[in-house]
Amino acid sequence: MKIIEVLIERKANSLNRPFSYLYDGKKNISIGSRVKVIFNHRLLIGYVIKISETDLTIDLLEKKSGFKYTYIVDILNEEPLLNDELTLLAKEMAEYYLCPLIAIFQTMLPPSLKPSSSSLKGPKIYYEKYIHLLSSLEEDLTPKQIEIVRNLKNNGDLRVKDIKSPTIIKNLVKKGRIEIIQIEKTRLEIKYETSAHENILTPDQNSAIKSIIETDKNVTLLEGVTGSGKTEIYLSLVKEMLKMNKNVIMLVPEISLTPMMINLFAARFKENVAIFHSDLTNAERYDEYRRIARGECRVVIGARSAIFAPLNNVGLFILDEEHVESYKQDSLPFYHAREVALMRAKHFGAKVVLGSATPSLESRARAQKGVYNFVHLTKRINQKSLPKTSIIDLTNTNNLSNESAIFSLPLIEALKETFSKGEQTILLINRRGYSSYLSCRNCGHIFKCPNCGIGLTYHRSNNLLKCHHCGHVEMVSDVCPKCGSKYLSKIGFGTERIVDEIMKLFPSIKVLRLDSDVKMNVNVLNRSLSEFSKGKFDCLVGTQMVAKGHDFPNVTLVGIVLADIGLALPSFKSAERTFELITQAIGRAGRSEKEGQAIIQTYNSRHYALVYAARQDYEAFYHQEMRMRQVQKYPPFTYLIAIKLASKNESLVIDFAYQLFNILSHQNFLDTYLVGPITPFIPFFGGKYHREIIIKYRKKDNIFSFLSKMVVEMQKNSQIDIQFDVDTLDF
Ligand code: ADP
Ligand code: ZN
Ligand code: ZN
Repeated sequence: MKIIEVLIERKANSLNRPFSYLYDGKKNISIGSRVKVIFNHRLLIGYVIKISETDLTIDLLEKKSGFKYTYIVDILNEEPLLNDELTLLAKEMAEYYLCPLIAIFQTMLPPSLKPSSSSLKGPKIYYEKYIHLLSSLEEDLTPKQIEIVRNLKNNGDLRVKDIKSPTIIKNLVKKGRIEIIQIEKTRLEIKYETSAHENILTPDQNSAIKSIIETDKNVTLLEGVTGSGKTEIYLSLVKEMLKMNKNVIMLVPEISLTPMMINLFAARFKENVAIFHSDLTNAERYDEYRRIARGECRVVIGARSAIFAPLNNVGLFILDEEHVESYKQDSLPFYHAREVALMRAKHFGAKVVLGSATPSLESRARAQKGVYNFVHLTKRINQKSLPKTSIIDLTNTNNLSNESAIFSLPLIEALKETFSKGEQTILLINRRGYSSYLSCRNCGHIFKCPNCGIGLTYHRSNNLLKCHHCGHVEMVSDVCPKCGSKYLSKIGFGTERIVDEIMKLFPSIKVLRLDSDVKMNVNVLNRSLSEFSKGKFDCLVGTQMVAKGHDFPNVTLVGIVLADIGLALPSFKSAERTFELITQAIGRAGRSEKEGQAIIQTYNSRHYALVYAARQDYEAFYHQEMRMRQVQKYPPFTYLIAIKLASKNESLVIDFAYQLFNILSHQNFLDTYLVGPITPFIPFFGGKYHREIIIKYRKKDNIFSFLSKMVVEMQKNSQIDIQFDVDTLDF
């Protein structure tokens, strides 16, 4: 009989330990198998982490251990789901992110293979039937049957589907010449172009590649303005790696996983490429995962979760646009793909390349200190100069127009000129919550979501108030529910309002709006963008999703309608995010022969993030922002961890937060600063009230061991969920 130690699918810290079950059935069981077990009278999925044999009877076992054993109900996967490398990685991640190991396994595996009950509904392996030759003896066969036998002999296994007559197959099987076998089939078909155009590398590109390959450091920061040829460098590096018999994982932000990008890699590396993006069906994702695990491809491209691709023998990890925050998962286990790449690279002795035009301060600081190898590309390939950029001060009345409350005179002028030349414009409003808030001018009451407590957004197209977080919708009322006043005003504006404004000023102009409210999948998004690119619209209005990556040759004007919104958000990253967004947005103008211009409207015309973004001066921004971070004790001078508390009972979570804060402040950790307890931006969601405590620290040793012990103790019999967001970006 075997004793099986199992992690249960529940992600609570107090259950973050193995539970013992018995098995004496006939199936295979391995470390890394998924099993069905009864836990607390419920049928749950577990993940096997240890197996031992025993000669004892159940009675003796139970006497010895003091608890009742039950048998494993069923084994879902006899073979391990993860190889040794990924199993070790999971353990390292669980330690680093202070989170239950099972949560890591659930994050690593694709939906159909997750150790969780939800996986049981997922797609299964898809098989296709083939006929396989057993003997090519032609005696007593009909000519038709001989034709098939010879065909098999020459060409190998054939699909049953392709053989016209089922009776021939049946008879050949009966005569022992062939058998029917099942071969796993992948449902994702990548279409690749046959010809792959390769550029001759510039001297700068060549020396970048040389430096990346020859450096004795594991990590290289590849900083280079957009259009400086980074993608071409990635392609060459991949080729080098394949030559050296090494494999590659390349991460790109979801939004960059355009057909263009995929074509580029698929055309060069053909069936060696596997692709992961969020638009794959679960079945396709599952098949790609299995294909990689079987060792059938060598280059994996995908968004964040592709970092867990079960690829062996990896020689290189690439993170394009390494500063992009979607590389960090914003739910348990809150991992950052860059950190995971570093962990995996250490295991393989692989190189890591972090590419960006505007690196995260953390990465740039490490490059500056010599922790990373630093390669800097300063020139654009086509030597194209950057667009002429002006900052328009909205506090200066000379700039204001009586035609429009939103567009300044210079922006209106620029719009007129651009439209009259038949060129295109992108207008950006840099926040996700966009349309207006509704508030009372008499008492200041703001209409808020009853579920989440955040301001409701006014949508003009259907005259409703909507919560952008939970989807709550309500009617617009005529009077203030608090004071009865009729004077309600809409504060701020968003994409919808801007579209209205453009159409009011320029009735003949065709406008395309893109934001997360226009619910779209990647295909629709790509189609809209390609229509814009072909000139079907004159103006594109959108949130940050229009700022990044796209290459529209006929766009000569970029307007940032209000740059202040991002700066006003309460986060230590707000200046960095604003700088990055505006730098990117400006880069959309004038990418081909035509001259481009950019206009930034703001009430903070002297803010350094805007001034340096307008000049595309990353260097100056970096130095100034580093000084700010140092004074305020923010990363990269400290590390941040957010302790996230939640409960159905509000007073319970508040009490708990203060209690915990007290305990922490009495620990006297060296060089450590506590902030809180704070009420997060969205204080109520998922049926629970939320509070947070932030710790800024320099050395994690004592703090982490304290936290991991404490959390198990405190959570044992309480109704509080505790999660840690290590290296949080959300503060
Ligand atoms: P980045 O990734 O830094 O934005 P890309 O690699 O996409 O830059 O290069 C920008 C443009 O320059 C692309 O159109 C690319 O095809 C072209 N390009 C890159 N390297 C070369 C080269 N060595 N010779 C000619 N064109 C190049
Ligand atoms: Zn009021
Ligand atoms: Zn809500």
